[in-house]
Amino acid sequence: MVIFFPKKSLGQNFLIQPQVALDMAFSVSNSDLVVEIGPGTGALTKKLLEKGARVIAVEKDNLLYKRLSEENVDNLEVIHGDVLETDLFIKEPYKIVANIPYYITGKIIRHFLETENQPTSMTLLIQKEVAERIVAKDSKESLLSISVKVYGNPTYIKTVKRGNFNPIPKVDSAILHIENISRDNFKNLDENLFFKVLKTGFSSKRKKVSKNLKSLIRIEDPRRPEDLSLKDWLDIVRKMSQQFQ
Ligand code: SAM
Repeated sequence: MVIFFPKKSLGQNFLIQPQVALDMAFSVSNSDLVVEIGPGTGALTKKLLEKGARVIAVEKDNLLYKRLSEENVDNLEVIHGDVLETDLFIKEPYKIVANIPYYITGKIIRHFLETENQPTSMTLLIQKEVAERIVAKDSKESLLSISVKVYGNPTYIKTVKRGNFNPIPKVDSAILHIENISRDNFKNLDENLFFKVLKTGFSSKRKKVSKNLKSLIRIEDPRRPEDLSLKDWLDIVRKMSQQFQ
């Protein structure tokens, strides 16, 4: 028998409550293609398969990869690798459902929203505070929230208390769902320019957005960056693009 010690360095906090895994799978229906990041011991994988999904699971941990792939389960393909460096070669619509390692939450979200072959939706179990920031629970937007909203619609599904994991993490988690993922906002707008303006606009959160952006564009706006909506940012970038034409 192999004794398995969870690796902190890989953010291993395994789900021990089947109901949470079921809650995570709420958007999955029969024959959906689902990419799971870090299947670990397979608690969530099992529920996705029970819902009739075809699952591609990418696991970085060699031992966990071996364990899961040796089970030879129908409709499950297990890939050994770092999800941020693995080309999945998917040629059809797919969803992401994953209890992701906290240490690369931002990188994973950015990676899959910015990639050419985006998923149609992402359901992620992440640190509660990060989920709250993404949906701007306190009505204060951030670089992170606008960077997500420009690609899709994030919803805070529910809080998941830390006792639902083994080992127990130091913080609570939440299920975040991002749907309608697309690049529609960039049909007539330069993606790189949008992010340049956004990053410059948030360079100092306490200053007015007009002051942060003064090297790029002159605008009359007394608000701070956190008070601007996605539409406001898109309007600013459109105005800038028109000036260049
Ligand atoms: N899905 C399992 C569950 O819900 O119980 C495990 C979740 S655990 C929070 C995160 C999983 O991601 C671990 O199995 C870990 O080994 C794996 N992992 C960590 N970094 C990874 C990476 N860069 N690429 C793929 N998997 C990774």
